[in-house]
Amino acid sequence: MAAPAGDAGGASASASSATVSGASAPTECHRIDGDTPAAAKVAVIGGGPAGLMAAEVLAAGGARVDLYDAMPSVGRKFLLAGKGGLNLTHGEPLKDFCARYGPRTEEVGAWLEVLPPAAVRDWAEGLGVSTFVGSSGRVFPTDLKAAPLLRAWLHRLRTAGVGFHSRHRWQGWAEDGALRFATPQGERAAKADAVVLALGGASWPQLGSDGAWTAPLAARGVETAPLLPSNCGFDVGHAGQPIGWSEHFRERFAGAPIKPVVLAFTDRHGAQFRRQGEFVVTATGIEGSLVYAASSALRDEIAAEGAATIHLDLLPDRSAEFVAAEVGRPRGPRTLATQLRSRLGITGVKAALLYEVLGKEAMHDPVQLAAACKALPLRLVSPRPIAEAISTVGGVRLQSLDERLMLRAVPSVFCAGEMLDWEAPTGGYLLTASMASGRVAGQGALDWLAGRATVP
Ligand SMILES: Cc1cc2nc3c(=O)[nH]c(=O)nc-3n(C[C@H](O)[C@H](O)[C@H](O)COP(=O)(O)OP(=O)(O)OC[C@H]3O[C@@H](n4cnc5c(N)ncnc54)[C@H](O)[C@@H]3O)c2cc1C
Repeated sequence: MAAPAGDAGGASASASSATVSGASAPTECHRIDGDTPAAAKVAVIGGGPAGLMAAEVLAAGGARVDLYDAMPSVGRKFLLAGKGGLNLTHGEPLKDFCARYGPRTEEVGAWLEVLPPAAVRDWAEGLGVSTFVGSSGRVFPTDLKAAPLLRAWLHRLRTAGVGFHSRHRWQGWAEDGALRFATPQGERAAKADAVVLALGGASWPQLGSDGAWTAPLAARGVETAPLLPSNCGFDVGHAGQPIGWSEHFRERFAGAPIKPVVLAFTDRHGAQFRRQGEFVVTATGIEGSLVYAASSALRDEIAAEGAATIHLDLLPDRSAEFVAAEVGRPRGPRTLATQLRSRLGITGVKAALLYEVLGKEAMHDPVQLAAACKALPLRLVSPRPIAEAISTVGGVRLQSLDERLMLRAVPSVFCAGEMLDWEAPTGGYLLTASMASGRVAGQGALDWLAGRATVP
């Protein structure tokens, strides 16, 4: 797993005291009727891609924007994503793109009307960063880096007048409605006419998003779903045995990639997942792109049934008949390992995985061995902890928000990004939906402040 990203040079947020005052400052949350909310002060809390996009829309719409973040600098997870090349979005047709959000296709699809994948590429281009579509359809900046894009973005926001307040961890609301922040100088309160919360999920908490915001929202009557890992690894385990691999397998193969391989999984309702790709053996289980792709179904199955059994085709380019014929050939004085290598090309971690799961006796039964090469069962017993996941699902339930992403229970407060209850696989879908929802929330706040929108 990649190490936490550092600062992007100019990404450090500078403190300004424009809207920050002592803990007793009142909050004036009022609607401003008229065409422009130019005088309106908006607090954006959370400086990830969702909050930065909301700030961009708000500043462009004439609002006075103050952006608060708990960390010494903003966009830390965005920078971490840059270590993997920064997969910004995906080049597939919009209908297919929207379908990646599963049960939230309709809601996220509405956000994507405001910022479709093609517009994400235009937006990056507008910041001087060109993009390309990789062979898998994934879209990356040409230089595969996040820092230049973030630096240009922050420069644009500062030029537009956005004030940045680092090391301001939002705590909730004071009794008089003021926003409460914990800062190195003690508690601060701030006034705002509207607020956009873009506080992220709960993965990689060392980068700022720890999910602690659920408590103040629940106290205001906002419905949230428990935060769970998404795009995560899993631990293996056999019933009645300790979790993880044997010591022998772990010591030799933790960190080894398994490829090519097909992962097949049928859930308790009969829904099937089957895809070719690759994954990595970890100290206690498996992780990597192919596992992440199946992770929501595997996580839900484990929650419902206590375990999920996947089947691995270790020889996706060979038919079952071919494998059975080769395994069944008399091997004479040759060892089984030599026969697997010379006849089927099974070596290293794949051979060791067969031994690990089948055991010595079954390995020497040609029928069981041939079947296992094409469908090796692996029992997964728990998702890895949320802190290790690429993303999270759960958070503010979408029915708690109106179509502008304003909280029904707390008018004037909007929410965006991964803190909302949706999930998607890796492939640029996470950043695109986070930014699109930031744009919707920012525009929603402008509309609400201007009194243009009809409150449903
Ligand atoms: C290793 C890794 C690689 C990834 N790669 C990709 C990729 O290539 N493509 C892709 O689409 N997605 C990728 N993602 C996911 C993507 O980075 C996130 O989905 C995205 O950053 C979510 O944006 P966000 O603005 O909602 O939240 P975040 O980026 O998490 O930002 C939330 C901000 O809120 C701040 N905050 C939290 N709580 C408080 C508080 N109480 N007070 C003040 N501030 C607070 C945090 O400090 C943080 O700055 C990756 C994630 C990881 C972990």
